[in-house]
Amino acid sequence: MHHSNLPPIPFSPPRIDDKTIAEITAALKSGWITTGPRVKEFEKRIAQYVDVEKVVCVNSASAGLELMLRWFGVQEGDEVIVPAYTYCATANVVVHCGAKPVMVDVNADDFNINIQNIEKAITEKTKVIIPVDFAGYPCDYDELNQLVNKDSIRKKFKPKTLIQEKLGRILILSDAAHSVGATYKGKRTGGLTDITVFSFHAVKNLTTAEGGAICLNLPSSFNTEEIYKHLCVKSLHGQSKDALSKTQIGNWRYDVNEAGYKCNMTDILAAIGLVELERYENDMLVKRKHIFDTYSNAFKKDERFEIPVYKTNTKTSSYHVYPLRLKNITENERDAMIQKIAQQNISVNVHFIPLPMLSFYKNNGYNILDFPVAYYNYAREISLPIFYDLTEEQIERVIAAVKS
Ligand SMILES: *Cc1c(COP(=O)(O)O)cnc(C)c1O
Repeated sequence: MHHSNLPPIPFSPPRIDDKTIAEITAALKSGWITTGPRVKEFEKRIAQYVDVEKVVCVNSASAGLELMLRWFGVQEGDEVIVPAYTYCATANVVVHCGAKPVMVDVNADDFNINIQNIEKAITEKTKVIIPVDFAGYPCDYDELNQLVNKDSIRKKFKPKTLIQEKLGRILILSDAAHSVGATYKGKRTGGLTDITVFSFHAVKNLTTAEGGAICLNLPSSFNTEEIYKHLCVKSLHGQSKDALSKTQIGNWRYDVNEAGYKCNMTDILAAIGLVELERYENDMLVKRKHIFDTYSNAFKKDERFEIPVYKTNTKTSSYHVYPLRLKNITENERDAMIQKIAQQNISVNVHFIPLPMLSFYKNNGYNILDFPVAYYNYAREISLPIFYDLTEEQIERVIAAVKS
Protein backbone atom coordinates (compact mmCIF):
# COMPACT_ATOMS: atom_id res chain seq x y z
CA MET A 1 0.00 0.00 0.00
CA HIS A 2 1.57 3.26 -1.03
CA HIS A 3 0.23 6.75 -0.73
CA SER A 4 -0.16 9.12 -3.64
CA ASN A 5 2.28 12.01 -3.90
CA LEU A 6 -0.55 14.49 -4.18
CA PRO A 7 -1.10 16.77 -1.16
CA PRO A 8 -3.72 15.56 1.33
CA ILE A 9 -7.36 16.68 1.06
CA PRO A 10 -8.75 16.91 4.60
CA PHE A 11 -12.40 16.19 5.41
CA SER A 12 -13.70 19.42 6.95
CA PRO A 13 -11.14 21.82 8.43
CA PRO A 14 -12.61 25.03 9.93
CA ARG A 15 -12.40 28.36 8.12
CA ILE A 16 -9.90 30.38 10.15
CA ASP A 17 -8.48 33.53 8.60
CA ASP A 18 -7.12 36.95 9.58
CA LYS A 19 -10.60 38.25 10.34
CA THR A 20 -11.27 35.42 12.81
CA ILE A 21 -7.89 35.92 14.43
CA ALA A 22 -8.39 39.70 14.69
CA GLU A 23 -11.73 39.24 16.46
CA ILE A 24 -10.35 36.66 18.89
CA THR A 25 -7.49 39.05 19.63
CA ALA A 26 -9.93 41.90 20.21
CA ALA A 27 -11.89 39.76 22.67
CA LEU A 28 -8.68 38.85 24.54
CA LYS A 29 -7.55 42.47 24.66
CA SER A 30 -10.94 43.67 25.89
CA GLY A 31 -10.18 42.06 29.25
CA TRP A 32 -13.51 40.21 29.17
CA ILE A 33 -12.96 36.59 28.16
CA THR A 34 -15.81 34.59 29.72
CA THR A 35 -19.58 35.08 29.13
CA GLY A 36 -20.14 38.77 28.43
CA PRO A 37 -21.07 41.29 25.74
CA ARG A 38 -19.90 39.19 22.79
CA VAL A 39 -22.00 36.19 23.85
CA LYS A 40 -25.05 38.42 24.34
CA GLU A 41 -24.51 39.95 20.88
CA PHE A 42 -24.06 36.51 19.29
CA GLU A 43 -27.31 35.31 20.92
CA LYS A 44 -29.19 38.31 19.52
CA ARG A 45 -27.79 37.83 16.02
CA ILE A 46 -28.68 34.12 15.96
CA ALA A 47 -32.20 34.93 17.18
CA GLN A 48 -32.57 37.46 14.31
CA TYR A 49 -31.16 35.04 11.76
CA VAL A 50 -33.50 32.16 12.62
CA ASP A 51 -36.42 34.39 13.65
CA VAL A 52 -37.04 33.34 17.25
CA GLU A 53 -37.57 35.45 20.35
CA LYS A 54 -34.58 34.26 22.38
CA VAL A 55 -31.40 32.19 22.01
CA VAL A 56 -29.17 30.93 24.83
CA CYS A 57 -25.57 30.12 23.94
CA VAL A 58 -23.82 27.23 25.70
CA ASN A 59 -20.50 25.40 25.38
CA SER A 60 -21.81 22.55 23.17
CA ALA A 61 -24.95 21.22 21.53
CA SER A 62 -24.75 18.21 23.86
CA ALA A 63 -24.89 20.50 26.90
CA GLY A 64 -27.75 22.45 25.31
CA LEU A 65 -29.80 19.32 24.65
CA GLU A 66 -29.20 17.99 28.15
CA LEU A 67 -29.98 21.37 29.74
CA MET A 68 -33.35 21.41 27.96
CA LEU A 69 -34.18 17.81 28.88
CA ARG A 70 -33.46 18.73 32.51
CA TRP A 71 -35.46 21.96 32.21
CA PHE A 72 -38.41 19.86 30.99
CA GLY A 73 -37.92 17.49 33.94
CA VAL A 74 -36.95 14.34 32.02
CA GLN A 75 -36.00 11.67 34.56
CA GLU A 76 -35.90 7.97 35.39
CA GLY A 77 -38.95 6.12 34.08
CA ASP A 78 -39.35 8.50 31.11
CA GLU A 79 -38.80 7.71 27.45
CA VAL A 80 -37.33 9.97 24.77
CA ILE A 81 -37.67 9.06 21.09
CA VAL A 82 -34.50 9.44 18.97
CA PRO A 83 -33.47 8.20 15.51
CA ALA A 84 -31.28 5.07 15.48
CA TYR A 85 -29.13 6.84 12.90
CA THR A 86 -27.44 9.86 14.49
CA TYR A 87 -24.36 10.88 16.43
CA CYS A 88 -24.24 9.36 19.94
CA ALA A 89 -24.81 12.76 21.61
CA THR A 90 -28.53 12.65 20.73
CA ALA A 91 -29.07 9.53 22.85
CA ASN A 92 -26.29 9.97 25.43
CA VAL A 93 -27.94 13.08 26.90
CA VAL A 94 -31.12 11.06 27.48
CA VAL A 95 -29.08 8.44 29.36
CA HIS A 96 -27.48 11.20 31.49
CA CYS A 97 -30.96 12.18 32.68
CA GLY A 98 -31.71 8.58 33.74
CA ALA A 99 -34.34 8.20 31.01
CA LYS A 100 -34.55 5.63 28.22
CA PRO A 101 -33.69 6.51 24.61
CA VAL A 102 -36.30 4.80 22.44
CA MET A 103 -34.75 4.39 19.00
CA VAL A 104 -36.74 4.38 15.79
CA ASP A 105 -35.73 3.62 12.22
CA VAL A 106 -35.20 6.30 9.58
CA ASN A 107 -36.36 7.09 6.03
CA ALA A 108 -34.71 5.28 3.12
CA ASP A 109 -34.59 8.42 0.97
CA ASP A 110 -33.38 11.29 3.18
CA PHE A 111 -31.89 9.48 6.24
CA ASN A 112 -34.20 11.39 8.64
CA ILE A 113 -36.37 9.98 11.43
CA ASN A 114 -39.55 8.34 10.10
CA ILE A 115 -42.78 9.88 11.42
CA GLN A 116 -44.87 6.67 11.22
CA ASN A 117 -42.20 4.85 13.22
CA ILE A 118 -42.30 7.62 15.83
CA GLU A 119 -46.06 7.25 16.18
CA LYS A 120 -45.70 3.51 16.79
CA ALA A 121 -43.03 4.12 19.44
CA ILE A 122 -45.02 6.62 21.53
CA THR A 123 -46.15 5.31 24.94
CA GLU A 124 -47.49 6.86 28.14
CA LYS A 125 -43.86 7.29 29.21
CA THR A 126 -42.83 9.39 26.19
CA LYS A 127 -41.86 12.92 27.23
CA VAL A 128 -39.74 14.22 24.35
CA ILE A 129 -38.95 13.51 20.69
CA ILE A 130 -35.49 14.52 19.43
CA PRO A 131 -35.54 14.64 15.63
CA VAL A 132 -32.18 15.16 13.90
CA ASP A 133 -31.79 17.12 10.65
CA PHE A 134 -29.39 14.61 9.16
CA ALA A 135 -26.61 16.12 7.01
CA GLY A 136 -28.40 19.49 7.27
CA TYR A 137 -31.68 18.37 5.67
CA PRO A 138 -34.75 19.34 7.75
CA CYS A 139 -37.12 16.68 9.10
CA ASP A 140 -40.86 16.67 8.32
CA TYR A 141 -41.71 19.34 10.88
CA ASP A 142 -45.38 19.87 9.95
CA GLU A 143 -46.07 16.17 10.36
CA LEU A 144 -44.10 16.06 13.62
CA ASN A 145 -45.84 19.09 15.12
CA GLN A 146 -49.22 17.68 14.05
CA LEU A 147 -48.39 14.30 15.55
CA VAL A 148 -47.70 15.58 19.08
CA ASN A 149 -50.87 17.68 18.95
CA LYS A 150 -53.14 14.80 17.89
CA ASP A 151 -55.91 14.10 20.44
CA SER A 152 -55.04 10.42 20.84
CA ILE A 153 -51.36 11.27 21.39
CA ARG A 154 -52.09 14.14 23.81
CA LYS A 155 -54.31 11.80 25.86
CA LYS A 156 -51.40 9.43 26.36
CA PHE A 157 -49.17 12.17 27.77
CA LYS A 158 -48.68 11.89 31.54
CA PRO A 159 -47.08 15.10 32.91
CA LYS A 160 -44.80 14.79 35.95
CA THR A 161 -43.72 18.43 36.32
CA LEU A 162 -45.42 21.83 36.17
CA ILE A 163 -43.71 22.64 32.87
CA GLN A 164 -44.88 19.34 31.36
CA GLU A 165 -48.40 20.04 32.63
CA LYS A 166 -48.33 23.47 31.06
CA LEU A 167 -47.22 22.13 27.66
CA GLY A 168 -49.74 19.29 27.94
CA ARG A 169 -48.05 17.20 25.27
CA ILE A 170 -44.78 15.67 24.11
CA LEU A 171 -42.01 18.27 23.65
CA ILE A 172 -40.12 18.41 20.34
CA LEU A 173 -36.47 19.18 20.99
CA SER A 174 -34.80 19.41 17.60
CA ASP A 175 -31.16 18.32 17.28
CA ALA A 176 -30.15 20.77 14.54
CA ALA A 177 -26.42 20.23 15.05
CA HIS A 178 -26.09 19.97 11.25
CA SER A 179 -28.74 22.33 9.99
CA VAL A 180 -28.04 25.99 10.78
CA GLY A 181 -29.43 27.95 7.83
CA ALA A 182 -31.50 25.09 6.38
CA THR A 183 -35.10 25.97 5.47
CA TYR A 184 -38.48 24.29 5.61
CA LYS A 185 -41.39 25.98 3.83
CA GLY A 186 -39.44 29.24 3.80
CA LYS A 187 -38.58 29.25 7.52
CA ARG A 188 -35.14 28.53 8.93
CA THR A 189 -34.45 25.75 11.42
CA GLY A 190 -34.53 27.17 14.94
CA GLY A 191 -38.09 28.40 14.57
CA LEU A 192 -39.68 25.22 13.24
CA THR A 193 -40.56 23.57 16.53
CA ASP A 194 -40.62 24.08 20.34
CA ILE A 195 -36.88 24.09 20.99
CA THR A 196 -33.95 23.71 18.59
CA VAL A 197 -30.30 23.19 19.47
CA PHE A 198 -27.41 24.07 17.13
CA SER A 199 -23.81 22.85 17.39
CA PHE A 200 -20.80 25.07 16.74
CA HIS A 201 -18.26 22.24 17.10
CA ALA A 202 -15.11 22.57 14.95
CA VAL A 203 -16.42 20.34 12.14
CA LYS A 204 -19.83 21.96 11.90
CA ASN A 205 -20.93 24.51 9.25
CA LEU A 206 -20.72 27.45 11.65
CA THR A 207 -18.08 26.99 14.31
CA THR A 208 -16.90 28.56 17.55
CA ALA A 209 -14.36 25.70 18.09
CA GLU A 210 -16.81 24.23 20.62
CA GLY A 211 -20.23 25.67 21.30
CA GLY A 212 -23.96 25.42 20.92
CA ALA A 213 -27.13 27.48 20.93
CA ILE A 214 -30.63 26.83 22.25
CA CYS A 215 -33.40 28.50 20.22
CA LEU A 216 -36.59 29.07 22.19
CA ASN A 217 -39.81 28.89 20.19
CA LEU A 218 -42.30 27.57 22.75
CA PRO A 219 -46.07 28.15 22.52
CA SER A 220 -47.15 31.69 23.46
CA SER A 221 -48.44 30.54 26.87
CA PHE A 222 -44.78 30.34 27.95
CA ASN A 223 -42.88 33.45 29.06
CA THR A 224 -39.81 33.19 26.86
CA GLU A 225 -38.01 36.15 28.46
CA GLU A 226 -38.30 34.50 31.87
CA ILE A 227 -37.21 31.08 30.54
CA TYR A 228 -34.21 32.74 28.88
CA LYS A 229 -33.13 34.28 32.19
CA HIS A 230 -33.67 31.00 33.99
CA LEU A 231 -31.58 29.09 31.43
CA CYS A 232 -28.70 31.59 31.74
CA VAL A 233 -28.72 30.95 35.49
CA LYS A 234 -29.18 27.18 35.06
CA SER A 235 -26.15 27.04 32.74
CA LEU A 236 -24.03 28.85 35.36
CA HIS A 237 -24.42 26.90 38.61
CA GLY A 238 -27.81 28.39 39.40
CA GLN A 239 -26.02 31.53 40.51
CA SER A 240 -28.36 34.52 40.65
CA LYS A 241 -25.75 36.90 39.17
CA ASP A 242 -23.29 36.19 36.38
CA ALA A 243 -19.65 37.28 36.48
CA LEU A 244 -20.31 40.40 34.41
CA SER A 245 -22.97 41.85 36.70
CA LYS A 246 -20.83 40.98 39.72
CA THR A 247 -18.05 43.21 38.37
CA GLN A 248 -20.19 46.28 39.03
CA ILE A 249 -18.51 47.89 42.02
CA GLY A 250 -20.19 46.95 45.27
CA ASN A 251 -22.45 44.42 43.56
CA TRP A 252 -20.87 41.33 45.09
CA ARG A 253 -23.70 39.48 46.84
CA TYR A 254 -25.37 36.58 45.03
CA ASP A 255 -27.51 33.58 45.79
CA VAL A 256 -27.81 30.05 44.37
CA ASN A 257 -31.36 28.94 43.70
CA GLU A 258 -30.68 25.48 42.29
CA ALA A 259 -27.71 23.15 41.77
CA GLY A 260 -27.19 24.35 38.21
CA TYR A 261 -24.75 23.20 35.54
CA LYS A 262 -21.62 24.83 34.11
CA CYS A 263 -21.96 25.06 30.37
CA ASN A 264 -21.89 28.76 29.50
CA MET A 265 -20.20 30.00 26.32
CA THR A 266 -17.14 32.28 26.56
CA ASP A 267 -16.70 35.65 24.82
CA ILE A 268 -13.55 34.41 23.06
CA LEU A 269 -15.61 31.74 21.32
CA ALA A 270 -18.52 34.10 20.63
CA ALA A 271 -15.99 36.34 18.83
CA ILE A 272 -15.38 33.51 16.34
CA GLY A 273 -19.13 32.89 16.05
CA LEU A 274 -19.88 36.54 15.25
CA VAL A 275 -17.42 36.47 12.34
CA GLU A 276 -18.80 33.14 11.12
CA LEU A 277 -22.44 34.23 11.29
CA GLU A 278 -21.82 37.49 9.45
CA ARG A 279 -20.51 35.65 6.39
CA TYR A 280 -22.62 32.54 6.72
CA GLU A 281 -25.70 32.96 4.52
CA ASN A 282 -24.17 34.75 1.55
CA ASP A 283 -20.74 33.19 1.57
CA MET A 284 -20.41 29.90 3.48
CA LEU A 285 -23.78 28.46 2.40
CA VAL A 286 -23.27 29.56 -1.21
CA LYS A 287 -19.89 27.81 -1.31
CA ARG A 288 -21.23 24.65 0.30
CA LYS A 289 -24.18 24.50 -2.10
CA HIS A 290 -21.77 24.85 -5.02
CA ILE A 291 -19.75 21.86 -3.75
CA PHE A 292 -22.96 19.80 -3.29
CA ASP A 293 -24.11 20.67 -6.82
CA THR A 294 -20.73 19.82 -8.31
CA TYR A 295 -20.67 16.42 -6.59
CA SER A 296 -24.25 15.67 -7.60
CA ASN A 297 -23.69 16.62 -11.23
CA ALA A 298 -20.70 14.31 -11.33
CA PHE A 299 -22.43 11.31 -9.75
CA LYS A 300 -26.05 11.54 -10.87
CA LYS A 301 -25.54 10.04 -14.32
CA ASP A 302 -23.42 7.18 -13.03
CA GLU A 303 -25.55 4.10 -12.27
CA ARG A 304 -23.28 3.05 -9.41
CA PHE A 305 -24.23 5.97 -7.18
CA GLU A 306 -27.28 7.24 -5.35
CA ILE A 307 -27.01 10.99 -4.76
CA PRO A 308 -28.49 12.58 -1.61
CA VAL A 309 -31.68 14.66 -1.50
CA TYR A 310 -30.86 18.22 -0.46
CA LYS A 311 -33.41 20.43 -2.13
CA THR A 312 -37.14 19.98 -2.74
CA ASN A 313 -40.11 22.36 -3.11
CA THR A 314 -40.37 22.66 0.66
CA LYS A 315 -36.86 22.06 2.00
CA THR A 316 -33.32 23.28 1.49
CA SER A 317 -30.33 21.75 3.25
CA SER A 318 -27.56 23.60 5.05
CA TYR A 319 -25.21 21.41 2.95
CA HIS A 320 -23.40 20.10 6.02
CA VAL A 321 -22.54 16.54 5.00
CA TYR A 322 -22.60 15.10 1.46
CA PRO A 323 -23.81 11.53 2.09
CA LEU A 324 -23.20 9.63 -1.14
CA ARG A 325 -24.57 6.08 -1.28
CA LEU A 326 -23.31 3.21 -3.42
CA LYS A 327 -25.60 0.70 -5.04
CA ASN A 328 -25.04 -3.05 -4.68
CA ILE A 329 -22.22 -2.81 -2.20
CA THR A 330 -21.67 -4.45 1.20
CA GLU A 331 -20.36 -2.79 4.34
CA ASN A 332 -16.98 -4.50 3.88
CA GLU A 333 -16.72 -3.42 0.27
CA ARG A 334 -17.54 0.15 1.30
CA ASP A 335 -14.81 0.02 3.97
CA ALA A 336 -12.32 -1.25 1.39
CA MET A 337 -13.28 1.57 -0.95
CA ILE A 338 -12.56 4.13 1.78
CA GLN A 339 -9.09 2.62 2.15
CA LYS A 340 -8.50 2.95 -1.61
CA ILE A 341 -9.58 6.58 -1.50
CA ALA A 342 -7.27 7.16 1.47
CA GLN A 343 -4.38 5.86 -0.66
CA GLN A 344 -5.02 8.82 -2.93
CA ASN A 345 -4.52 11.06 0.09
CA ILE A 346 -8.19 12.01 0.41
CA SER A 347 -10.15 11.90 3.67
CA VAL A 348 -13.69 10.66 3.49
CA ASN A 349 -15.95 9.65 6.36
CA VAL A 350 -19.04 7.67 7.31
CA HIS A 351 -22.04 9.39 8.93
CA PHE A 352 -22.83 7.60 11.20
CA ILE A 353 -22.37 4.20 12.75
CA PRO A 354 -26.00 3.56 13.83
CA LEU A 355 -26.35 3.76 17.62
CA PRO A 356 -27.39 0.08 18.07
CA MET A 357 -23.99 -0.95 16.64
CA LEU A 358 -22.03 0.97 19.30
CA SER A 359 -20.92 -1.21 22.25
CA PHE A 360 -22.67 0.83 24.93
CA TYR A 361 -26.07 0.62 23.24
CA LYS A 362 -25.56 -2.94 22.00
CA ASN A 363 -24.73 -4.01 25.56
CA ASN A 364 -27.90 -2.29 26.73
CA GLY A 365 -30.12 -4.44 24.53
CA TYR A 366 -30.43 -2.45 21.30
CA ASN A 367 -30.11 -4.60 18.18
CA ILE A 368 -29.24 -3.29 14.72
CA LEU A 369 -31.49 -5.97 13.16
CA ASP A 370 -34.44 -3.92 14.44
CA PHE A 371 -33.31 -0.95 12.29
CA PRO A 372 -32.84 -2.34 8.77
CA VAL A 373 -33.10 1.01 6.97
CA ALA A 374 -30.49 2.66 9.22
CA TYR A 375 -28.15 -0.27 8.60
CA TYR A 376 -28.73 -0.25 4.84
CA ASN A 377 -28.05 3.50 4.67
CA TYR A 378 -24.95 3.21 6.83
CA ALA A 379 -23.42 0.21 5.04
CA ARG A 380 -23.49 1.96 1.66
CA GLU A 381 -22.62 5.50 2.74
CA ILE A 382 -19.50 7.61 2.31
CA SER A 383 -19.37 11.30 3.21
CA LEU A 384 -17.23 13.38 0.87
CA PRO A 385 -15.00 16.31 1.92
CA ILE A 386 -16.80 19.61 2.21
CA PHE A 387 -15.35 22.83 3.62
CA TYR A 388 -15.06 26.50 2.69
CA ASP A 389 -11.53 26.40 1.30
CA LEU A 390 -12.03 23.29 -0.87
CA THR A 391 -10.80 24.21 -4.37
CA GLU A 392 -12.28 23.22 -7.75
CA GLU A 393 -9.19 21.14 -8.41
CA GLN A 394 -9.62 19.32 -5.10
CA ILE A 395 -13.30 18.67 -5.84
CA GLU A 396 -12.30 17.09 -9.16
CA ARG A 397 -9.70 14.93 -7.41
CA VAL A 398 -12.35 13.69 -4.96
CA ILE A 399 -14.75 12.85 -7.78
CA ALA A 400 -12.09 11.02 -9.77
CA ALA A 401 -10.94 9.05 -6.72
CA VAL A 402 -14.46 7.97 -5.78
CA LYS A 403 -15.27 6.94 -9.36
CA SER A 404 -12.05 4.97 -9.70
C1 LIG B 1 -22.04 17.16 16.48
C2 LIG B 1 -23.37 16.62 16.83
C3 LIG B 1 -23.91 16.78 18.13
C4 LIG B 1 -23.10 17.29 19.27
O1 LIG B 1 -22.63 18.57 19.12
P1 LIG B 1 -21.57 19.11 20.20
O2 LIG B 1 -21.62 20.60 20.00
O3 LIG B 1 -20.26 18.51 19.84
O4 LIG B 1 -22.04 18.71 21.54
C5 LIG B 1 -25.19 16.35 18.36
N1 LIG B 1 -25.92 15.75 17.39
C6 LIG B 1 -25.43 15.56 16.16
C7 LIG B 1 -26.31 14.91 15.14
C8 LIG B 1 -24.13 15.95 15.85
O5 LIG B 1 -23.63 15.70 14.64
